[in-house]
Amino acid sequence: MPTPDRLPMPADTRALLGQFDHDHLIHPYTSMTEPSPVFLVESASGCELHLADGRTLIDGMSSWWAAVHGYNHPVLNAAIHKQLENMSHVMFGGLTHEPAIRLAQRLLSICPAGLQKVFFSDSGSVAVEIAIKMAIQYWQARGRPGKCRLLSLRRAYHGDTFAAMSTCDPVTGMHSLFENNLTRQFFADAPRCRFNEPWDGADIVSLRRLVHEHHQCLAAIILEPVVQGAGGMFFYSPQYLREARALCDDYGLLLIADEIATGFGRTGKLFACEHAGISPDIMCVGKALTGGYMTLAATLTTEHVAATISQNGGTFMHGPTFMANPLACAVADASLDLLLSGPWQENVARIEQQLLAGLAPCRKSADVADVRVLGAIGVVELRQAVDMQRVQPRFVELGAWVRPFGKLVYLMPPYIITATQLSQLCSAVATVVAELGKEESAQGSKGCNKGST
Ligand code: PMP
Repeated sequence: MPTPDRLPMPADTRALLGQFDHDHLIHPYTSMTEPSPVFLVESASGCELHLADGRTLIDGMSSWWAAVHGYNHPVLNAAIHKQLENMSHVMFGGLTHEPAIRLAQRLLSICPAGLQKVFFSDSGSVAVEIAIKMAIQYWQARGRPGKCRLLSLRRAYHGDTFAAMSTCDPVTGMHSLFENNLTRQFFADAPRCRFNEPWDGADIVSLRRLVHEHHQCLAAIILEPVVQGAGGMFFYSPQYLREARALCDDYGLLLIADEIATGFGRTGKLFACEHAGISPDIMCVGKALTGGYMTLAATLTTEHVAATISQNGGTFMHGPTFMANPLACAVADASLDLLLSGPWQENVARIEQQLLAGLAPCRKSADVADVRVLGAIGVVELRQAVDMQRVQPRFVELGAWVRPFGKLVYLMPPYIITATQLSQLCSAVATVVAELGKEESAQGSKGCNKGST
């Protein structure tokens, strides 16, 4: 996609916008009064973000896993325009529409076997809330209201709303801040056995013990299949997933797979559950569902869960105002069409190979604890948290949009990224990591160490 010639936004306009943003807008995970700096973006196309000051950055983040086709894609733009001519929104209570029906048909045709019902919502966190509600209502309908707690994993991340937050890692997941407001869930040890390592049965001992001890009060196990994302960007053995599925079957628990980050090809499979060949009872998707165009998520479940909840006329108790927004559904359907009709597997495999080679030099630094790659995700884990106040502007200077958090510098570019663009991103990461090595002690950033993916 050619980049149009662009003139920078006038400096005084930029200054005014920047000042208002600083004074009045609240950005994620930062101080409300002394926020960390932000960069003003004027437009984006392909794999490039165009800053208002005229600089262009190569996007290494896909806007937090979402923009798999890059930005300003003509096919996705056309899908939104077309839908806009018909209707941008109607309520989903008592009404339905073709974009939602078509998208649900497509989702059910590609998702792991057994999932047959789709609930559309606004965002990933809400999709997780809905999954948790489904699990709780399922056990209520079976006359077991005491089975209402969740078994999650340490290092998990499932979102920022309260029920979702209650299942995030108890140390890094903000539990201390909201201790009095969070349901107490159970946490098994985080998986240690890596994606490509031979399986070590010791990895599942903690999960098995907790299931055994607490199944009477457990509704479900919830996990991010194969990739623990914002909790540490760790890739674990698919055997862990198989074992978790088997435990759920043995003890009659539901399995909730949070595919919000991993869904739609990012790990090299369409859904990360496919690495293990398992199907969950409830699955959440979001992020890349619309190709990063609009906020939309979905919670999928089985006929059995749905039929149980609704036996004797039971209703499922959720209904967001913007449920199944037609614009979002139309662009999601177009995005999935684009994905499935294109060479996404080749692209992800190509990106994986290039990330492996391009990030390998980082291993030389004594400050680097680990370099790992899975699909279109490349991670450099440092020994200390990076100082975002210094590192973020440095990446921008290097023409790269890379947003580390904590000890993690990582890339998850749009699948359409070219080899040249990706090599620029990898070099930027290698440069910054080498520079960090030269400077003593990154002391952590001001208000910026917590960062979502
Ligand atoms: N689950 C996972 C695995 C995620 O990565 C995220 C987002 N980082 C969420 C849930 C929450 O999604 P959202 O930010 O759209 O609410």
